[in-house]
Amino acid sequence: MTWVKLFLGSLAVSLSLVATAASMPDGCNCFCVIAGRNTTVDGSVMLAHNEDDSGEMMLNMYAVPRLNGNNAYLWGEFPGTSVCDHFLNEWGVAIASDGCPSREDREDVTDGGVLYEVRLTVAQRAHSAREAVKIIGHLVETRGYQASGRTYVIADPHEGWICSVVKGRHWVAKRIADDEVMALPNNYIIDEVNLADTLNCYGARDVETYARERGWYDPERDGRFSFKKAYCDPYYYTYEHNVIRQLCAQQYLTGRNDLVPDPDTLPFAVRPNRKIGLADLMQIMQCHGENSEHKFVYKRERPWNHPVGICTDVTVLSAIFQLRADRPREVGCVMWVCAGRPCTEHYIPWYLGISRTPDCWRRYASAAQAVKDHFTAVEHKRDQWPHHIYWKGVDRWASYATDWHNGIAAVQQARDKRQAKACKAFAKMDKKLQKYYDPRTLQVKDREAMVKSINAFTEKLYR
Ligand SMILES: [Zn+2]
Repeated sequence: MTWVKLFLGSLAVSLSLVATAASMPDGCNCFCVIAGRNTTVDGSVMLAHNEDDSGEMMLNMYAVPRLNGNNAYLWGEFPGTSVCDHFLNEWGVAIASDGCPSREDREDVTDGGVLYEVRLTVAQRAHSAREAVKIIGHLVETRGYQASGRTYVIADPHEGWICSVVKGRHWVAKRIADDEVMALPNNYIIDEVNLADTLNCYGARDVETYARERGWYDPERDGRFSFKKAYCDPYYYTYEHNVIRQLCAQQYLTGRNDLVPDPDTLPFAVRPNRKIGLADLMQIMQCHGENSEHKFVYKRERPWNHPVGICTDVTVLSAIFQLRADRPREVGCVMWVCAGRPCTEHYIPWYLGISRTPDCWRRYASAAQAVKDHFTAVEHKRDQWPHHIYWKGVDRWASYATDWHNGIAAVQQARDKRQAKACKAFAKMDKKLQKYYDPRTLQVKDREAMVKSINAFTEKLYR
């Protein structure tokens, strides 16, 4: 396939990458939720993701136009990183990921294998979440995956998928049922694998036989094949922070009190006990385990007294993709961006139709240059770009985090006010945008005016 060749050129770059999220302090790096379209109040598919990282992280936002036959996309970039960026492409395909270490200890790659290319290729080439999964599978099988393991979370306005990849050539993907919500910590959660069910499952043909060969799965000993049990690094599989975070989200969604922190029995996805909305996902992503009797205990000293949970003291971004099929994708697909920790910061809506992001969010004036220089000039970013808006957030969380428990009530009150204001502005903007398209055919009537209006809306929110 030609797009595979396209990325052979960037091989030298990818080999030199340092994946900042790979170290997994306290096994707590990223969390994700996907809600099927029948579970949400507005019929959207929703994908939420917390990005947890250490080191000097710097969020940039770009609207990348169509280039060299590739899709246009909205890009939440962390310069220099391979596994942290968020994408929403012109087809409404959103992708993020959670690190999920595997037990694979053998290298098996061609031409250096793939890492950053995986999400970038999906953004540039996929027309649907399902196609994205096939692209990932093809890349992993033909090139091999460089890192220990990861689960990509992908959604479009119709359905959501997760795709778990293993170092080397193995992978499995599973669709989230329309009436269910999936919550993913940093371990594999795909259990049964039925490759004959091509509506809901894809994967490497030898995913079971290879596990048998390696002694990770024995039918006599283990019964039916379970991907998560066979392939997950045993330490992360049972790690309490992973298990309890998944449990907290499932408890919140279902109201069930019979769930226990056992990775063998926690379901892949749950049916919520009511229709859920944006506010519910915000609630989950800012959770520190308040809704559960199961508490997090940390094994290392942390510099701040910010509690840990789904939201942690290393959360550098929380994004919620609201993917609506009842209007044109430019206005129907929205990336809500919380530039920092969701327990103290609010989310701001970014419509997919934006063509130019505010200057304060960019290292480079040109999106094309940002794509080319993603791995360039990534040391001492604050010294290089001291006026970037992201540092304001970084300073703010640092000031909260030293005395989190005492200050939090007032901080959250102010945050809630800002959130309500942003949601109100969004509802008003949604109405205003209706004049630019036909509600029956979803054809856009005046694209230029619509895009101009979206650009101005985002600018104003940050002013
Ligand atoms: Zn928090």
